[in-house]
Amino acid sequence: MERTLIKNVGTLVTGDIGSPLAEADAILIEGSHISYVGMTGNLESSEYERVIDAAGMTLLPGLIDSHIHPAIGEYTPMQNMIGYIGSYLHGGTTTMISNGEVLLPGQPRGVDGLKALAIFAAQSYQNYRPSGVKVRGGTLLLREGFSEEDFAELSRLGVRRGKLLYEIKPEIGARYASWARNHDLKLLMHCGGTSVPGGLSTTPEQVLKIRPHVLAHLNGGPTAMPPEAINTLIDETRGMIELVLCGNPRAAIAIIAKVLREDQLERVILGTDTPTGSGIIPLGMWQLINLLTGFSDLKPEVAICLATGNTARFYGLGSGFIREGSAADLILADAPAGSAAPDTLGAIAAGDIPAIALVMIDGEIVVEGSRNSSPPKRRLKIER
Ligand SMILES: [Zn+2]
Repeated sequence: MERTLIKNVGTLVTGDIGSPLAEADAILIEGSHISYVGMTGNLESSEYERVIDAAGMTLLPGLIDSHIHPAIGEYTPMQNMIGYIGSYLHGGTTTMISNGEVLLPGQPRGVDGLKALAIFAAQSYQNYRPSGVKVRGGTLLLREGFSEEDFAELSRLGVRRGKLLYEIKPEIGARYASWARNHDLKLLMHCGGTSVPGGLSTTPEQVLKIRPHVLAHLNGGPTAMPPEAINTLIDETRGMIELVLCGNPRAAIAIIAKVLREDQLERVILGTDTPTGSGIIPLGMWQLINLLTGFSDLKPEVAICLATGNTARFYGLGSGFIREGSAADLILADAPAGSAAPDTLGAIAAGDIPAIALVMIDGEIVVEGSRNSSPPKRRLKIER
């Protein structure tokens, strides 16, 4: 098994909001997984197939975008573009989670077609990683007419999520929520004004009756619910609170301030809600992290945990952390050249988007020098 040592790490962000920073300057990767996190110590005397000298850069988990709308492979019909997922990879995103293949032209409306679409997307992205990125595709678009047998079949065939996006009677939505729980699916519910024709304009009453696992883009997608409605959903449900870049920024700041005050950070996950009408935003996860840290008391290392470990833990992804046993999906980042700040966390605090120097997925280097971020202050060295 190939072994990679990453040494001279300046700052290590764990992905775990319980302890976002680790006292460590090195990690060891064996094959596709992290096998050691700690001080270099006597690690250096051993022989490795690959040694990466991080030159004091920051090591953090690869970003997990909790909210994307894929269609097929790396083609997105709405902005008529191919290859966009590789661009997000160059921003440090290593996993993306579908919130429904809603952009597919001629999207089916009936139960059979919607099931087929979810199964197809789940399985095709299982078999194929666009540009190396782990896309969790296949989120069932829920309309009226599904049975519990449908949920059982979908679960058996690899579909892990259902999304309430279209108008639906709350009692049917509530039934779907209990079937989702019975068959190991997560139920995501659109929170906000209507985003697509026939789509939900969410009210707190609907959400409180349905009780989904995820309050999808609680800061709006792109239109936010009124502030009192948002507060009710935070207070009266236990659902995950998703914040997205392409939502309402004012609502995002109000939500993060409330969550910080009330010590509810473990419920927060971050996504871009792209590709959509808002476009394709390869550095979008960083823009969201910088928005939240720039306009609230959220610390940069904690914001990174919301974009990595929190999402991984909720969806059971096996990545999202820099710790023993986690998949080696990671980033080496730095302050961009010319930034007022000395390092990655300082850059975020100063409002600068970090420079991505290297990205690894399952222990393989997939980006060496990002085509999308600014160049780093430091220069890392790969000794093979
Ligand atoms: Zn969306």
